[in-house]
Amino acid sequence: MDLKSGYPFWAIKNGLMCEFPQLKADIDCDVVVVGGGITGALIADELGKNGLEVVVVEQRDIGWGSSAASTALLQYEIDTHMVDLASMYGEANAVLAYRSCAEAITDLRDLSQEVGDVDFDMQESLYYASAPTDEATLREEYQLRIKHEFDAQWLDSDHLQEQFGIKAPCGILTKLAARIDPYRMASKLLLRLAERGGRVFDRTVIHTIEPSDQDVTLCTQEGFRIKTQQVVMAAGYASQRWLRQPVATNRSSYAFITDPLEKSDLGKLASTMVWESARPYLYMRTTGNGRLLVGGDDDDVDIPARRDKRVGSKAKGLCRKVKKLFPDLPLRPAFSWGGTFAETRDGLPFFGPHPQYGPRVQFALAYGGNGISYSMLGAGLLRANIEGRPHPLAELFGFSRAG
Ligand SMILES: Cc1cc2nc3c(=O)[nH]c(=O)nc-3n(C[C@H](O)[C@H](O)[C@H](O)COP(=O)(O)OP(=O)(O)OC[C@H]3O[C@@H](n4cnc5c(N)ncnc54)[C@H](O)[C@@H]3O)c2cc1C
Repeated sequence: MDLKSGYPFWAIKNGLMCEFPQLKADIDCDVVVVGGGITGALIADELGKNGLEVVVVEQRDIGWGSSAASTALLQYEIDTHMVDLASMYGEANAVLAYRSCAEAITDLRDLSQEVGDVDFDMQESLYYASAPTDEATLREEYQLRIKHEFDAQWLDSDHLQEQFGIKAPCGILTKLAARIDPYRMASKLLLRLAERGGRVFDRTVIHTIEPSDQDVTLCTQEGFRIKTQQVVMAAGYASQRWLRQPVATNRSSYAFITDPLEKSDLGKLASTMVWESARPYLYMRTTGNGRLLVGGDDDDVDIPARRDKRVGSKAKGLCRKVKKLFPDLPLRPAFSWGGTFAETRDGLPFFGPHPQYGPRVQFALAYGGNGISYSMLGAGLLRANIEGRPHPLAELFGFSRAG
């Protein structure tokens, strides 16, 4: 499955950060993590530092899947409004999902500080109404967040204009958000895992998975076997191929990044990520050296060749939208790209075992716009599952909710 088109910035900026051996022998271990993207890296880190003997197997180079294409805004605000989640699963579950995502941001901050040099920075997040008709929806969302003591500030059109120079009916400003270089984070976590005795193999494809009551046997394309007690399938958007039950829809998302801009030109954008209520939404954030990273214009394309052809025109379209919002910003797009992106019906991820494979195979499907925050939560959830402990998110993020 070809996951990205064009020139994803993180891979260009960082180059190939690590090289691991291919698997060329039969081995055994406690846990195999299939997939060396940001999800697999966060989970492997969590399991490895808590005493499990972990093996990570990646079919490409580390981080070279959709993690290299991610725009990596870290927000507690899920694509599905808290109000809508509450109507699907009850207010307590909606609050649990939002609160957990808020905790994931501070957990990612702490982990980034431990790992160091992953372009992590705390940011504010501005969610503005794209049209006057969205004002009532935003107001209801704001009120529910305030009721549950989330940090959120209401901005009317005058405040938006004054503080951000944005012409829009209203917006919600929150102080808890962050940005990261996800490719660098995945690479550094897996390098650290290997230094601590974990084993990482790249350019190694897992071909079959056979669970039994006692263990699981995985076989690589070259015919080598791994015997393990537990498997974590962190194979990103290709994971659907392992499940008979359809749980998500693949789409494409597009992005471009500018040359570095002056702080004076960026103004509040240097410390605030911005997104909107229209669907698909336009969103943007800066990097540590002042580049503006813009994404959006998602479509239903799930054929890589078709997505490849659209990257140029999608980047131009995104650029026009940013110019409309910030006419004085001197935008100089440097690289543009597109990537596969999967959405679930309710915007929540799936973490846990699936009846098709039984309790020894845990899936880690960090789908949706908050994939990275979900992966951070998934790391704790899957560790609890593997250690046989209950976890507050097990049911809400489990496959049973898919019906
Ligand atoms: C354009 C774009 C913008 C995004 N923006 C954001 C954002 O702002 N914030 C956010 O939180 N999330 C965002 N996301 C989503 C986020 O990027 C994903 O949640 C995240 O990258 C998924 O990481 P992953 O490790 O699960 O998948 P991947 O990075 O794709 O890693 C999975 C790995 O599994 C490997 N693999 C698959 N099958 C096998 C096999 N059989 N054997 C061995 N290896 C295998 C693949 O090669 C791949 O490297 C965005 C995604 C895209 C595409």
